[in-house]
Amino acid sequence: MADSAKTSNFLTDIVDADLAAGRVRGPIVTRFPPEPNGFLHIGHAKSILLNFGLAARYGGRAHLRFDDTNPTTEETEYVESIENDVRWLGGDWGEHLHFASDYFGKMYECAERLVVEGKAYVDTQSQEAIREQRGSFERPGAASPHRDRTPSENLDLLRRMRKGEFPDGAAVLRARIDMAHPNVLMRDPLLYRIRHASHHRTGDAWCIYPMYDWAHPLEDAVEGVTHSICTLEFESNRELYDWVLDNTGPWDPRPRQYEFARLALGYTVMSKRKLLQVVNEKRVSGWDDPRMPTIAGMRRRGVTPDALRDFADLIGVAKNNSVVDIGKFEFCVRGDLERRSPRALGVLDPVRLTLVNWTGPDEELDLPWWPAEPDRGGSRKVPFGRDLLVERDDFSAEPPPDWKRLAPGREVRLAGAWVVRCDEVVRGPGGEVEEIRCTFDPASRDATRRGIGTIHWVHGSRSIPAEVRLYDRLFTVEQPDAEGNFLDVMNPASLSSAPGARLEPALHDAAPGTHWQFLREGYFFVDPVDSRPGAPVWNRTMTLKDTWAARAAPADPGRPARPAREPAVPSTPRRSQGDVRAEQRAADPGLVAIHARLAAIPGVSPDQADLLAADAATAAWFDSAVAAGGPPGPTARWLLNELLGLAGDHPLDSLPLAAGAFGRFVSLAESGRTTGAGAKALLQSLVERPGDPADRLAELGLEKVDDRAAVEGAVARVLGAQAAEVARYRSGEKKLLGFLLGAAMRETQGKADPALLRKVLQEALG
Ligand code: ATP
Ligand code: MG
Repeated sequence: MADSAKTSNFLTDIVDADLAAGRVRGPIVTRFPPEPNGFLHIGHAKSILLNFGLAARYGGRAHLRFDDTNPTTEETEYVESIENDVRWLGGDWGEHLHFASDYFGKMYECAERLVVEGKAYVDTQSQEAIREQRGSFERPGAASPHRDRTPSENLDLLRRMRKGEFPDGAAVLRARIDMAHPNVLMRDPLLYRIRHASHHRTGDAWCIYPMYDWAHPLEDAVEGVTHSICTLEFESNRELYDWVLDNTGPWDPRPRQYEFARLALGYTVMSKRKLLQVVNEKRVSGWDDPRMPTIAGMRRRGVTPDALRDFADLIGVAKNNSVVDIGKFEFCVRGDLERRSPRALGVLDPVRLTLVNWTGPDEELDLPWWPAEPDRGGSRKVPFGRDLLVERDDFSAEPPPDWKRLAPGREVRLAGAWVVRCDEVVRGPGGEVEEIRCTFDPASRDATRRGIGTIHWVHGSRSIPAEVRLYDRLFTVEQPDAEGNFLDVMNPASLSSAPGARLEPALHDAAPGTHWQFLREGYFFVDPVDSRPGAPVWNRTMTLKDTWAARAAPADPGRPARPAREPAVPSTPRRSQGDVRAEQRAADPGLVAIHARLAAIPGVSPDQADLLAADAATAAWFDSAVAAGGPPGPTARWLLNELLGLAGDHPLDSLPLAAGAFGRFVSLAESGRTTGAGAKALLQSLVERPGDPADRLAELGLEKVDDRAAVEGAVARVLGAQAAEVARYRSGEKKLLGFLLGAAMRETQGKADPALLRKVLQEALG
């Protein structure tokens, strides 16, 4: 959770402001509230990392709460898998594992109170009548004939509903708000409905069940949640959320709802209903099939929690919905696996290679697991000799001009071993290559040889057969549920095997759940479910490069991408944004050069270079900002993550903020003279009206107080003024830290460096 806890976003800005203004006095409390009706997916992962990360950042707590208010769709099986997934992602809920159904009694009490106060009534009309009277955005609603029942009539009816005197659908409890309210959700919304159904936890104790809009705010309030974070579809429910809390409280703390954009990912469906359909129709082997976007599937494929966290950090927390380029996800997975996978040798589709001049016995080569990082240590013996196997498509009888692999008369290095030259090719009756006969150069093992490629290999008879599973995207188009039936655009080749695969013998005992890189072939993971001792099953988590983009767009001539082993997509796939940019570049040599130059700048990631080189104007703007003093990495980050969002549809050139001033802004933002939130506020102001960044910083009073003496002074004043709270904190009421932190932040007018303030305060409290 550590990294996510560091990244600022609009929610951390809200919490900072709440603490500074003293709106939250206790700890920051968030919750992750899944409905136990399916497995969690990567969208949920984003929400988990956000909620647990936010709580961790402020020393608060996050709850895991099962939102099990619907009796018919929830299953205990899902509860277990969800707990497992949240824990795997690093979510620690401590004692706070909750079930919404535990609050049925409390919710019912609150309902009776509303009835007694004349704020709710029992409606015994049909569902259709109620729906019809609701009106629409243009048309006000009409009052139910039961709207003016007396509190005692309503109380009697509600109690009889609860006792089971009415069949399903015969009555509902409604809040009595306003049938002409501009927000349709506020037109006397349903609070309870009758369902004679058994619940997975409460059994038959209840036959009335609360609606989401009634239950959710109460669940939050009962648990002391301070920041209730949900996705954007709930924006208009917020008004009702507040109404419920205002009419049932007082609640301390009083929860507040905030919305962020749900994650949508290219080439992926994320609806639980659709994923269930994919599972039920046996289009995959189960919820944990490595092709599934479920947490269980990704875990089994070899994706790590760190990679998911990197991804969540990269995409940030947005306020507007968009489809995230799946290339970003794959980029994070590759980056993570690159760091953790030792390099091994495996040939997926072997062909024999004979060294005709190798006359001695086999040699045992001592090859390091980390060839590029000798300091990491560790090596193993790999048998080498006359009979070897290499990848079939590493040979070409008629190679293209830039071919760096095996071809008649050409030389190539066998990784970690000697340079060999292809002298002769033996073909079978159908013309297929059966054997490549080479001579090796005995002097070449430790000699540097420029201009030749390196290929991987294994020993012919002492390598081991292995079960290898190769995965590809589950869908062939970027937005599978945009139109038509998503099942029609499933990728028929999303799973393939490599039946002839042979691996170096050291991999015989690879433990389930370990990560490896097979040189030039990809990152592999030992399947934790199907592997047996001495018989590991290998999942390819990912290829080393984006083979999908290489398939969709003409290959970059400077960098021959390995062709996919099998054409995975029968029809032309719709391109992702990254693919489109790669294509545009391929058609525009100017952009290729710009991209290459940006990608070579230290501190600018490949992903950033790709985005900056989307068009020449953006790249030129970036260049001017850097020329004016913006450090390249941060300039790229501020430009892509913040400025483009603020600019909206306006071209950068049309902003009041010039590129040079932006560069000076970045250098100021990175200087530590203001906080993260301060820098964002400054940028926003500069986008609205022109001016010098440093002057504006002073004008807005956004300079960070990181002068330790000033911070210590503020802390001392607060501790003096809050002697009672300090004493309670010292006698063990640790949750008062948030309150004291808020008071101290206020004392500095919100300008203290939050980390420094926290440190000084904790030291002062002892
Ligand atoms: P579905 O509509 O597919 O059933 P859901 O959103 O209803 O999914 P829940 O179990 O209710 O599933 O979700 C639990 C939490 O996860 C909610 O707080 C929800 O906001 C969040 N969440 C669900 N999907 C996403 C997503 N794609 N991106 C971010 N957060 C998500
Ligand atoms: Mg839901």
